[in-house]
Amino acid sequence: MSLNLYNTLTRSKDVFTPLRPDRVTVYVCGPTVYNHAHIGNARPAVVFDVLVRLLRTRHDRVIFARNVTDVDDKINAAAKATGQPISAITEKYATIYRSDMAALGVAAPDVEPHATAHIPQIIALIERLIASGHAYTAEGHVLFNVPAFAAYGKLSGRDRDDMIAGARVDVAPYKKDPADFVLWKPSTDDLPGWPSPWGRGRPGWHIECSAMIATHLGETIDIHGGGNDLIFPHHENELAQSACAHHGAPLAGVWMHNGFLTMDKEKMSKSLGNIVTVHELLTRAPGEAIRWALLSAHYRQPLDWSDDVLAQAKRTLDRFYLALDQVKGITATPTNAPNAMIAALDDDLNTPKAAAEIAALVKALNGATTDAEKARLKGEVLAAGKLLGILQQEPSQWLTAAAPDTNVDAGEIERLIAARIAARKAKDFKEADRIRDQIAAMGVVIEDRADGTRWRLAS
Ligand code: AMP
Ligand code: ZN
Repeated sequence: MSLNLYNTLTRSKDVFTPLRPDRVTVYVCGPTVYNHAHIGNARPAVVFDVLVRLLRTRHDRVIFARNVTDVDDKINAAAKATGQPISAITEKYATIYRSDMAALGVAAPDVEPHATAHIPQIIALIERLIASGHAYTAEGHVLFNVPAFAAYGKLSGRDRDDMIAGARVDVAPYKKDPADFVLWKPSTDDLPGWPSPWGRGRPGWHIECSAMIATHLGETIDIHGGGNDLIFPHHENELAQSACAHHGAPLAGVWMHNGFLTMDKEKMSKSLGNIVTVHELLTRAPGEAIRWALLSAHYRQPLDWSDDVLAQAKRTLDRFYLALDQVKGITATPTNAPNAMIAALDDDLNTPKAAAEIAALVKALNGATTDAEKARLKGEVLAAGKLLGILQQEPSQWLTAAAPDTNVDAGEIERLIAARIAARKAKDFKEADRIRDQIAAMGVVIEDRADGTRWRLAS
Protein backbone atom coordinates (compact mmCIF):
# COMPACT_ATOMS: atom_id res chain seq x y z
CA MET A 1 0.00 0.00 0.00
CA SER A 2 1.27 3.43 -0.77
CA LEU A 3 -0.01 6.92 -0.23
CA ASN A 4 -1.41 8.62 -3.32
CA LEU A 5 -1.90 12.36 -3.29
CA TYR A 6 -3.37 14.69 -5.87
CA ASN A 7 -0.74 17.22 -6.84
CA THR A 8 -2.07 20.56 -8.07
CA LEU A 9 1.20 21.07 -9.97
CA THR A 10 1.11 17.83 -11.97
CA ARG A 11 -2.71 17.69 -11.99
CA SER A 12 -2.57 14.00 -11.22
CA LYS A 13 -2.75 11.65 -8.30
CA ASP A 14 0.83 10.51 -7.73
CA VAL A 15 2.46 8.04 -5.36
CA PHE A 16 3.98 10.02 -2.51
CA THR A 17 7.68 9.44 -1.99
CA PRO A 18 9.50 11.54 0.61
CA LEU A 19 12.48 13.45 -0.76
CA ARG A 20 14.66 12.22 2.09
CA PRO A 21 14.38 8.86 3.80
CA ASP A 22 14.79 10.29 7.29
CA ARG A 23 12.01 12.88 7.38
CA VAL A 24 8.89 14.30 5.79
CA THR A 25 8.31 18.05 5.70
CA VAL A 26 4.89 19.67 5.44
CA TYR A 27 4.02 23.37 5.35
CA VAL A 28 0.51 24.79 5.39
CA CYS A 29 -0.18 28.51 5.07
CA GLY A 30 -1.73 29.57 8.35
CA PRO A 31 -4.05 32.34 9.39
CA THR A 32 -3.68 36.08 9.05
CA VAL A 33 -4.48 37.03 12.62
CA TYR A 34 -6.81 40.01 12.74
CA ASN A 35 -10.18 38.41 13.51
CA HIS A 36 -11.85 35.10 14.37
CA ALA A 37 -11.29 32.20 12.00
CA HIS A 38 -14.47 31.14 10.21
CA ILE A 39 -15.45 27.55 9.66
CA GLY A 40 -14.03 27.70 6.10
CA ASN A 41 -10.62 28.62 7.53
CA ALA A 42 -10.86 25.55 9.76
CA ARG A 43 -11.19 23.21 6.79
CA PRO A 44 -7.50 23.24 5.76
CA ALA A 45 -6.46 22.98 9.42
CA VAL A 46 -8.53 19.82 9.93
CA VAL A 47 -7.74 18.27 6.53
CA PHE A 48 -3.98 18.70 6.89
CA ASP A 49 -4.18 17.45 10.47
CA VAL A 50 -5.53 14.17 9.10
CA LEU A 51 -2.76 14.10 6.50
CA VAL A 52 -0.10 14.60 9.16
CA ARG A 53 -1.65 11.86 11.34
CA LEU A 54 -1.57 9.52 8.35
CA LEU A 55 2.06 10.39 7.55
CA ARG A 56 3.04 9.77 11.16
CA THR A 57 1.76 6.19 10.93
CA ARG A 58 4.50 5.52 8.38
CA HIS A 59 7.30 7.99 9.05
CA ASP A 60 9.04 8.43 12.37
CA ARG A 61 9.90 12.03 11.69
CA VAL A 62 7.28 14.33 10.20
CA ILE A 63 7.96 18.04 10.58
CA PHE A 64 4.78 20.01 10.21
CA ALA A 65 4.93 23.80 10.03
CA ARG A 66 1.98 26.17 9.95
CA ASN A 67 2.79 29.85 10.01
CA VAL A 68 1.10 32.85 11.52
CA THR A 69 0.87 35.89 9.26
CA ASP A 70 1.21 38.74 11.73
CA VAL A 71 2.11 41.58 9.40
CA ASP A 72 -0.51 42.47 6.82
CA ASP A 73 -2.49 45.49 5.68
CA LYS A 74 -5.72 43.94 7.00
CA ILE A 75 -4.14 43.76 10.46
CA ASN A 76 -3.06 47.40 10.19
CA ALA A 77 -6.61 48.35 9.23
CA ALA A 78 -8.06 46.39 12.18
CA ALA A 79 -5.64 48.13 14.57
CA LYS A 80 -6.64 51.52 13.23
CA ALA A 81 -10.35 50.72 13.39
CA THR A 82 -10.22 49.51 16.99
CA GLY A 83 -7.51 51.83 18.30
CA GLN A 84 -5.49 48.89 19.62
CA PRO A 85 -1.79 48.29 19.10
CA ILE A 86 -1.03 45.87 16.25
CA SER A 87 0.68 43.37 18.54
CA ALA A 88 -2.38 43.26 20.82
CA ILE A 89 -4.54 42.31 17.83
CA THR A 90 -2.19 39.68 16.43
CA GLU A 91 -1.48 38.07 19.81
CA LYS A 92 -5.15 37.98 20.73
CA TYR A 93 -6.29 36.34 17.50
CA ALA A 94 -3.33 33.94 17.27
CA THR A 95 -4.22 32.68 20.77
CA ILE A 96 -7.89 32.32 19.87
CA TYR A 97 -6.97 30.50 16.64
CA ARG A 98 -4.78 28.01 18.53
CA SER A 99 -7.46 27.23 21.07
CA ASP A 100 -10.24 27.01 18.45
CA MET A 101 -8.18 24.56 16.38
CA ALA A 102 -7.29 22.54 19.49
CA ALA A 103 -11.02 22.27 20.21
CA LEU A 104 -11.41 20.73 16.74
CA GLY A 105 -8.79 18.12 17.61
CA VAL A 106 -6.12 19.74 15.43
CA ALA A 107 -2.68 18.98 16.85
CA ALA A 108 -0.38 21.95 17.32
CA PRO A 109 2.18 22.21 14.49
CA ASP A 110 5.78 21.24 15.25
CA VAL A 111 6.85 24.69 14.10
CA GLU A 112 4.68 27.79 14.16
CA PRO A 113 6.78 30.55 12.62
CA HIS A 114 5.62 34.16 12.85
CA ALA A 115 6.38 36.40 9.88
CA THR A 116 7.57 39.31 12.07
CA ALA A 117 10.19 37.02 13.66
CA HIS A 118 11.77 36.39 10.23
CA ILE A 119 12.49 39.85 8.88
CA PRO A 120 16.30 39.26 8.53
CA GLN A 121 15.64 36.02 6.60
CA ILE A 122 13.08 37.77 4.40
CA ILE A 123 15.53 40.58 3.63
CA ALA A 124 18.29 38.06 2.85
CA LEU A 125 16.02 36.19 0.46
CA ILE A 126 15.06 39.39 -1.33
CA GLU A 127 18.74 40.32 -1.63
CA ARG A 128 19.42 36.98 -3.32
CA LEU A 129 16.61 37.58 -5.79
CA ILE A 130 17.99 41.01 -6.64
CA ALA A 131 21.50 39.57 -7.04
CA SER A 132 20.29 36.81 -9.36
CA GLY A 133 18.39 39.28 -11.55
CA HIS A 134 14.90 38.11 -10.56
CA ALA A 135 13.96 41.20 -8.58
CA TYR A 136 14.54 44.94 -8.82
CA THR A 137 14.06 48.04 -6.70
CA ALA A 138 11.76 50.89 -7.67
CA GLU A 139 10.65 53.85 -5.56
CA GLY A 140 11.28 52.19 -2.20
CA HIS A 141 9.69 48.93 -3.35
CA VAL A 142 11.32 45.70 -4.34
CA LEU A 143 9.47 43.80 -7.03
CA PHE A 144 9.74 40.28 -8.37
CA ASN A 145 10.16 40.39 -12.13
CA VAL A 146 7.75 37.77 -13.44
CA PRO A 147 9.17 37.47 -17.00
CA ALA A 148 12.50 36.47 -15.43
CA PHE A 149 10.98 33.13 -14.36
CA ALA A 150 9.90 31.12 -17.39
CA ALA A 151 7.84 28.59 -15.42
CA TYR A 152 5.62 31.28 -13.89
CA GLY A 153 1.94 30.28 -14.17
CA LYS A 154 2.55 26.53 -14.21
CA LEU A 155 0.99 25.86 -10.81
CA SER A 156 -2.23 27.76 -11.42
CA GLY A 157 -2.36 26.99 -15.13
CA ARG A 158 -3.19 30.60 -15.88
CA ASP A 159 -2.17 32.36 -19.00
CA ARG A 160 -0.62 35.77 -18.87
CA ASP A 161 -3.77 37.86 -19.38
CA ASP A 162 -5.57 35.88 -16.73
CA MET A 163 -2.71 36.34 -14.32
CA ILE A 164 -2.58 40.05 -14.74
CA ALA A 165 -6.35 40.34 -14.27
CA GLY A 166 -6.33 37.79 -11.43
CA ALA A 167 -3.56 39.47 -9.52
CA ARG A 168 -5.74 42.58 -9.38
CA VAL A 169 -2.67 44.67 -9.63
CA ASP A 170 -3.09 48.34 -9.90
CA VAL A 171 -0.35 48.66 -12.40
CA ALA A 172 2.02 51.01 -10.67
CA PRO A 173 4.11 53.06 -13.10
CA TYR A 174 7.36 51.78 -11.60
CA LYS A 175 6.61 48.14 -12.47
CA LYS A 176 8.65 46.77 -15.34
CA ASP A 177 5.91 44.27 -16.11
CA PRO A 178 2.26 44.48 -15.04
CA ALA A 179 2.45 40.97 -13.50
CA ASP A 180 5.40 41.88 -11.24
CA PHE A 181 4.57 41.59 -7.57
CA VAL A 182 5.81 43.20 -4.37
CA LEU A 183 8.49 41.63 -2.20
CA TRP A 184 9.08 44.69 -0.03
CA LYS A 185 7.18 47.94 0.32
CA PRO A 186 7.87 51.21 2.11
CA SER A 187 6.08 51.95 5.40
CA THR A 188 4.95 55.34 6.60
CA ASP A 189 5.68 56.18 10.26
CA ASP A 190 2.25 55.04 11.44
CA LEU A 191 2.70 51.58 9.93
CA PRO A 192 4.87 48.68 11.08
CA GLY A 193 8.26 48.79 9.44
CA TRP A 194 11.81 47.52 9.69
CA PRO A 195 15.06 49.02 8.45
CA SER A 196 16.24 47.46 5.21
CA PRO A 197 18.68 48.17 2.36
CA TRP A 198 15.68 49.78 0.61
CA GLY A 199 14.63 51.99 3.50
CA ARG A 200 12.12 51.46 6.28
CA GLY A 201 9.43 49.09 5.10
CA ARG A 202 7.62 45.79 5.44
CA PRO A 203 7.51 42.54 3.50
CA GLY A 204 4.87 41.46 1.01
CA TRP A 205 2.80 38.44 2.03
CA HIS A 206 4.22 35.88 -0.40
CA ILE A 207 7.89 36.30 0.47
CA GLU A 208 7.12 35.68 4.15
CA CYS A 209 6.15 32.07 3.49
CA SER A 210 9.14 31.46 1.18
CA ALA A 211 11.52 32.74 3.88
CA MET A 212 9.88 30.80 6.73
CA ILE A 213 9.89 27.57 4.71
CA ALA A 214 13.58 27.93 3.82
CA THR A 215 14.44 28.76 7.44
CA HIS A 216 12.61 25.89 9.11
CA LEU A 217 12.23 23.15 6.53
CA GLY A 218 14.82 23.74 3.81
CA GLU A 219 14.86 24.75 0.16
CA THR A 220 12.59 21.93 -0.99
CA ILE A 221 9.82 20.48 1.13
CA ASP A 222 7.68 17.40 0.60
CA ILE A 223 4.18 18.82 0.81
CA HIS A 224 2.84 22.36 0.63
CA GLY A 225 -0.83 22.94 1.40
CA GLY A 226 -3.62 25.46 1.73
CA GLY A 227 -7.06 26.35 0.43
CA ASN A 228 -7.49 26.52 -3.32
CA ASP A 229 -7.86 30.30 -3.26
CA LEU A 230 -4.15 30.36 -2.41
CA ILE A 231 -3.06 28.69 -5.67
CA PHE A 232 -3.00 32.07 -7.33
CA PRO A 233 -1.36 34.39 -6.68
CA HIS A 234 0.04 33.32 -3.28
CA HIS A 235 1.45 29.89 -4.08
CA GLU A 236 2.38 30.73 -7.65
CA ASN A 237 4.47 33.57 -6.23
CA GLU A 238 5.96 31.53 -3.39
CA LEU A 239 6.98 28.90 -5.93
CA ALA A 240 8.62 31.46 -8.22
CA GLN A 241 10.53 33.30 -5.49
CA SER A 242 11.82 30.17 -3.82
CA ALA A 243 12.96 28.47 -7.03
CA CYS A 244 14.74 31.61 -8.23
CA ALA A 245 16.45 32.20 -4.87
CA HIS A 246 17.60 28.57 -4.67
CA HIS A 247 19.12 27.94 -8.10
CA GLY A 248 15.95 26.38 -9.46
CA ALA A 249 15.36 23.93 -6.57
CA PRO A 250 11.59 23.32 -6.48
CA LEU A 251 9.80 24.64 -3.41
CA ALA A 252 7.62 21.56 -2.93
CA GLY A 253 7.26 18.06 -4.28
CA VAL A 254 3.48 17.98 -3.81
CA TRP A 255 1.07 20.92 -3.79
CA MET A 256 -2.26 20.14 -2.10
CA HIS A 257 -5.29 22.40 -2.01
CA ASN A 258 -8.61 21.96 -0.30
CA GLY A 259 -11.89 22.95 -1.91
CA PHE A 260 -14.03 25.71 -0.53
CA LEU A 261 -16.58 25.56 2.19
CA THR A 262 -19.77 27.25 1.06
CA MET A 263 -23.02 28.35 2.67
CA ASP A 264 -26.12 27.92 0.50
CA LYS A 265 -23.68 27.14 -2.27
CA GLU A 266 -22.00 30.53 -1.91
CA LYS A 267 -18.38 30.87 -0.89
CA MET A 268 -18.08 31.73 2.79
CA SER A 269 -16.34 35.05 2.95
CA LYS A 270 -16.32 38.19 4.95
CA SER A 271 -17.32 40.35 2.02
CA LEU A 272 -20.51 38.33 1.50
CA GLY A 273 -21.24 38.46 5.23
CA ASN A 274 -22.15 34.74 5.37
CA ILE A 275 -19.60 33.82 7.97
CA VAL A 276 -19.91 31.42 10.87
CA THR A 277 -16.91 31.61 13.16
CA VAL A 278 -15.44 28.53 14.78
CA HIS A 279 -15.52 30.38 18.09
CA GLU A 280 -19.29 30.88 17.90
CA LEU A 281 -19.96 27.39 16.59
CA LEU A 282 -18.08 25.90 19.55
CA THR A 283 -20.69 27.41 21.88
CA ARG A 284 -23.34 25.36 20.08
CA ALA A 285 -21.65 22.08 19.22
CA PRO A 286 -18.78 19.89 20.40
CA GLY A 287 -15.54 20.48 18.50
CA GLU A 288 -15.42 16.82 17.57
CA ALA A 289 -18.78 17.07 15.78
CA ILE A 290 -17.56 20.14 13.87
CA ARG A 291 -14.43 18.22 12.89
CA TRP A 292 -16.43 15.20 11.74
CA ALA A 293 -18.71 17.46 9.68
CA LEU A 294 -15.66 19.06 8.04
CA LEU A 295 -14.37 15.61 7.10
CA SER A 296 -17.71 14.46 5.70
CA ALA A 297 -16.80 15.57 2.18
CA HIS A 298 -13.63 14.77 0.26
CA TYR A 299 -11.21 17.62 0.86
CA ARG A 300 -10.97 18.63 -2.81
CA GLN A 301 -14.74 18.86 -3.20
CA PRO A 302 -16.77 21.86 -2.11
CA LEU A 303 -18.55 21.38 1.21
CA ASP A 304 -21.86 23.14 1.66
CA TRP A 305 -22.07 23.91 5.37
CA SER A 306 -25.40 23.85 7.19
CA ASP A 307 -26.85 23.10 10.62
CA ASP A 308 -28.00 19.80 9.11
CA VAL A 309 -24.48 18.72 8.13
CA LEU A 310 -23.36 19.44 11.68
CA ALA A 311 -26.37 17.70 13.31
CA GLN A 312 -25.79 14.65 11.13
CA ALA A 313 -22.13 14.50 12.19
CA LYS A 314 -23.14 14.77 15.84
CA ARG A 315 -25.70 11.95 15.46
CA THR A 316 -23.11 9.71 13.81
CA LEU A 317 -20.65 10.29 16.65
CA ASP A 318 -23.42 9.62 19.19
CA ARG A 319 -23.95 6.26 17.51
CA PHE A 320 -20.22 5.47 17.58
CA TYR A 321 -19.84 6.47 21.23
CA LEU A 322 -22.95 4.51 22.17
CA ALA A 323 -21.38 1.39 20.67
CA LEU A 324 -18.17 2.03 22.65
CA ASP A 325 -20.20 2.62 25.79
CA GLN A 326 -21.83 -0.79 25.44
CA VAL A 327 -18.38 -2.41 25.67
CA LYS A 328 -16.95 -0.13 28.32
CA GLY A 329 -16.14 -3.06 30.58
CA ILE A 330 -14.06 -4.78 27.91
CA THR A 331 -10.39 -3.96 27.46
CA ALA A 332 -9.63 -3.05 23.86
CA THR A 333 -6.98 -5.14 22.15
CA PRO A 334 -4.23 -2.70 21.17
CA THR A 335 -3.85 -2.54 17.39
CA ASN A 336 -3.10 -0.23 14.50
CA ALA A 337 -5.78 1.34 12.35
CA PRO A 338 -7.26 -1.39 10.13
CA ASN A 339 -5.90 -1.72 6.60
CA ALA A 340 -9.19 -0.77 4.98
CA MET A 341 -9.11 2.54 6.84
CA ILE A 342 -5.51 3.25 5.83
CA ALA A 343 -6.34 2.29 2.24
CA ALA A 344 -9.19 4.83 2.18
CA LEU A 345 -6.95 7.61 3.42
CA ASP A 346 -4.09 6.49 1.18
CA ASP A 347 -6.39 7.25 -1.73
CA ASP A 348 -5.85 11.01 -1.61
CA LEU A 349 -7.35 11.32 1.88
CA ASN A 350 -10.71 9.83 1.03
CA THR A 351 -12.39 10.71 4.34
CA PRO A 352 -15.95 9.83 3.21
CA LYS A 353 -14.66 6.32 2.46
CA ALA A 354 -12.83 6.26 5.80
CA ALA A 355 -16.08 7.30 7.50
CA ALA A 356 -17.89 4.39 5.85
CA GLU A 357 -15.12 2.04 7.07
CA ILE A 358 -15.40 3.17 10.66
CA ALA A 359 -19.21 2.92 10.49
CA ALA A 360 -18.82 -0.69 9.30
CA LEU A 361 -16.47 -1.44 12.21
CA VAL A 362 -18.95 0.04 14.66
CA LYS A 363 -21.72 -2.07 13.15
CA ALA A 364 -19.56 -5.17 13.55
CA LEU A 365 -18.83 -4.17 17.15
CA ASN A 366 -22.56 -3.83 17.86
CA GLY A 367 -23.11 -7.29 16.43
CA ALA A 368 -20.17 -8.96 18.19
CA THR A 369 -21.14 -11.80 20.46
CA THR A 370 -17.96 -12.95 22.18
CA ASP A 371 -15.76 -10.90 24.48
CA ALA A 372 -12.71 -11.66 22.32
CA GLU A 373 -14.47 -10.31 19.25
CA LYS A 374 -15.63 -7.24 21.16
CA ALA A 375 -12.11 -6.57 22.44
CA ARG A 376 -10.63 -6.84 18.94
CA LEU A 377 -13.28 -4.66 17.30
CA LYS A 378 -13.15 -2.09 20.09
CA GLY A 379 -9.39 -1.84 19.52
CA GLU A 380 -9.91 -1.35 15.81
CA VAL A 381 -12.60 1.30 16.26
CA LEU A 382 -10.38 3.24 18.70
CA ALA A 383 -7.32 3.01 16.43
CA ALA A 384 -9.34 4.09 13.39
CA GLY A 385 -10.81 6.94 15.43
CA LYS A 386 -7.36 8.06 16.55
CA LEU A 387 -6.18 8.31 12.97
CA LEU A 388 -9.16 10.49 12.14
CA GLY A 389 -8.95 12.49 15.36
CA ILE A 390 -12.26 11.26 16.83
CA LEU A 391 -13.60 8.86 19.49
CA GLN A 392 -10.84 9.41 22.04
CA GLN A 393 -13.14 10.68 24.80
CA GLU A 394 -14.75 8.55 27.49
CA PRO A 395 -18.04 7.45 25.89
CA SER A 396 -19.99 8.37 29.02
CA GLN A 397 -18.48 11.83 28.92
CA TRP A 398 -19.48 12.35 25.30
CA LEU A 399 -22.97 10.95 25.79
CA THR A 400 -23.75 13.06 28.82
CA ALA A 401 -21.85 16.24 27.97
CA ALA A 402 -24.30 18.99 27.25
CA ALA A 403 -23.69 21.20 24.28
CA PRO A 404 -22.22 24.30 25.91
CA ASP A 405 -25.34 26.40 25.43
CA THR A 406 -27.94 23.84 26.54
CA ASN A 407 -29.19 24.09 30.08
CA VAL A 408 -29.10 20.42 30.91
CA ASP A 409 -27.99 19.93 34.48
CA ALA A 410 -26.39 16.49 34.85
CA GLY A 411 -26.99 16.48 38.62
CA GLU A 412 -30.68 17.17 38.11
CA ILE A 413 -30.97 14.33 35.61
CA GLU A 414 -29.23 11.88 37.92
CA ARG A 415 -31.64 12.94 40.67
CA LEU A 416 -34.67 12.39 38.40
CA ILE A 417 -33.37 9.00 37.28
CA ALA A 418 -32.95 7.96 40.92
CA ALA A 419 -36.50 9.16 41.68
CA ARG A 420 -37.82 7.17 38.71
CA ILE A 421 -36.03 4.02 39.88
CA ALA A 422 -37.51 4.52 43.36
CA ALA A 423 -40.99 4.99 41.85
CA ARG A 424 -40.65 1.80 39.86
CA LYS A 425 -39.46 -0.10 42.89
CA ALA A 426 -42.56 1.12 44.70
CA LYS A 427 -44.60 -0.03 41.68
CA ASP A 428 -45.77 3.55 41.10
CA PHE A 429 -45.51 3.25 37.32
CA LYS A 430 -47.55 6.34 36.68
CA GLU A 431 -45.01 8.43 38.58
CA ALA A 432 -42.12 6.61 36.85
CA ASP A 433 -43.59 7.44 33.43
CA ARG A 434 -44.20 11.02 34.45
CA ILE A 435 -40.54 11.38 35.41
CA ARG A 436 -39.45 9.77 32.13
CA ASP A 437 -41.55 12.31 30.21
CA GLN A 438 -40.10 15.11 32.30
CA ILE A 439 -36.58 13.95 31.43
CA ALA A 440 -37.49 13.62 27.73
CA ALA A 441 -38.84 17.17 27.75
CA MET A 442 -35.36 18.29 28.81
CA GLY A 443 -33.96 16.88 25.58
CA VAL A 444 -32.49 13.80 27.25
CA VAL A 445 -32.90 10.19 26.23
CA ILE A 446 -32.78 7.47 28.87
CA GLU A 447 -32.10 3.84 28.32
CA ASP A 448 -32.77 1.05 30.80
CA ARG A 449 -30.11 -1.61 30.61
CA ALA A 450 -29.10 -4.65 32.60
CA ASP A 451 -26.35 -2.65 34.30
CA GLY A 452 -28.50 0.37 35.12
CA THR A 453 -30.15 3.38 33.55
CA ARG A 454 -28.07 5.48 31.14
CA TRP A 455 -28.82 8.88 29.78
CA ARG A 456 -27.58 11.01 26.91
CA LEU A 457 -28.62 14.16 25.14
CA ALA A 458 -31.06 13.59 22.29
CA SER A 459 -29.39 14.47 19.02
P1 AMP B 1 -6.73 33.31 5.40
O1 AMP B 1 -6.63 33.58 6.87
O2 AMP B 1 -7.81 34.08 4.72
O3 AMP B 1 -5.39 33.42 4.69
O4 AMP B 1 -7.17 31.79 5.23
C1 AMP B 1 -6.59 30.73 5.94
C2 AMP B 1 -6.81 29.45 5.19
O5 AMP B 1 -8.21 29.16 5.03
C3 AMP B 1 -6.24 29.44 3.77
O6 AMP B 1 -5.63 28.18 3.54
C4 AMP B 1 -7.46 29.62 2.89
O7 AMP B 1 -7.26 29.07 1.62
C5 AMP B 1 -8.49 28.84 3.66
N1 AMP B 1 -9.88 29.26 3.39
C6 AMP B 1 -10.39 30.51 3.45
N2 AMP B 1 -11.72 30.52 3.19
C7 AMP B 1 -12.07 29.21 2.98
C8 AMP B 1 -13.31 28.55 2.68
N3 AMP B 1 -14.47 29.22 2.57
N4 AMP B 1 -13.28 27.21 2.52
C9 AMP B 1 -12.14 26.50 2.65
N5 AMP B 1 -10.94 27.07 2.93
C10 AMP B 1 -10.90 28.41 3.09
ZN1 ZN C 1 1.93 30.88 2.25
